[in-house]
Amino acid sequence: MSIYSGDVFDMAARQFGVIANHLGIPMDERDRLLLPKRAITVSCPIHRDDGSVEVFEGYRVQHHLTLGPTKGGTRFAPSVGIGEVAALAIWMSWKCALVGLPYGGAKGGIRVDLATISKRELESLSRRYMQEMIPFVGPHTDVMAPDMGTNEQVMAWFMDTYSMYQGRTVTEIVTGKPVASGGTLGRREATGRGVAHLAKRVMAELAIDLNRATAVIQGFGNVGSYAALELQQFGLKVIAVSDHTGALYDAAGLDIPALMRHATAHGSIAGFSTELQFDPTQILTLRCDVLVPAAMERVIDAETAAKLQCRVLAEGANGPTTPDADLVLAQRRDEVFLIPDVLCNSGGVIVSYFEWVQDLQQLFWEEAEVTRREYQILDRAFDQMIARANADNVPHRTAAMAIGVEKVRAAKNMRGLFP
Ligand code: GLU
Repeated sequence: MSIYSGDVFDMAARQFGVIANHLGIPMDERDRLLLPKRAITVSCPIHRDDGSVEVFEGYRVQHHLTLGPTKGGTRFAPSVGIGEVAALAIWMSWKCALVGLPYGGAKGGIRVDLATISKRELESLSRRYMQEMIPFVGPHTDVMAPDMGTNEQVMAWFMDTYSMYQGRTVTEIVTGKPVASGGTLGRREATGRGVAHLAKRVMAELAIDLNRATAVIQGFGNVGSYAALELQQFGLKVIAVSDHTGALYDAAGLDIPALMRHATAHGSIAGFSTELQFDPTQILTLRCDVLVPAAMERVIDAETAAKLQCRVLAEGANGPTTPDADLVLAQRRDEVFLIPDVLCNSGGVIVSYFEWVQDLQQLFWEEAEVTRREYQILDRAFDQMIARANADNVPHRTAAMAIGVEKVRAAKNMRGLFP
């Protein structure tokens, strides 16, 4: 009997099973690696604007504490539950280990539909969530960051709430903050930039001409929008974009800076154009060079995987591809080059790490330095993944996750079992 259940948790467990089998990890070591160290559930009561009181459920899962503090985002979405958050925390662990950050994985969130609460209620909820988490987080215990439904403003409220309780400013308690409140230059763009940087590397290897290439982006939040912008700056035409309100298609290429301005002003891509409207269910299977799923988990199942018409699948979201879809993609390895999530979207947490280091040292870097170091880490991890995939003759996801799992396992085994 476990508290962890649901499709997303089952997916993380199944993926881990594939890796554990590949690495020949003994059965009695597997639960120690997979099961989260801590899972916290809190009730967050807030005053609604009409004077009533409502309680929202909040979660935080800290997957392992072996390599340092835990690290990971906080999501505000109706789907949030302990199983989903645990899966996302587990993925953060493999991601941080793969790219060599001194962190275990964590994830948290509140089950809330943001469309139903006001800005004032959002601030109350954010502050109450952080206040409830104070016994369980800290700059050397667990460091939060943005994820789906949260942003720099929410991080500023988290940081302020924690700091008010400490009686001093503790910027290093969260990352992804506004630059004006101890954030780092280049964090907002980091995840999307990393996705685009790796996609560009793969396009060079596949001899795809950037100026004749096309990209399709599912999800136009922080990750999708900056990935689109960067790919467009590399010369690609971004022919289609979707979000939770619909999709837009333009064979001549969408104007991404204009679309970003619209999305910032209106909260979504809705209302940008009537002529360019497109069926969002068709977006993933459009013919293109680079497909970036940057919305949510489990959007590419086996059926969709068989129909993909992209050359490069650059996973901006966490867990967009199901294990059944992975089996299809393994057969299509020569047609679709997969850049798996734990590598592809790791630019975000890499630059979060830089933000944490800068806050601890109170020594701030130029944006060019942030981005140069981000790409250096991404390139190193990409090279390691490719070498491992070739050496073991396994798909990229298996190679990338195996490197991450192996590092966590080695650290646990060297430290030994206490007492
Ligand atoms: N939520 C992001 C992720 O899934 C960022 C985490 C962080 O920066 O700590 O990787």
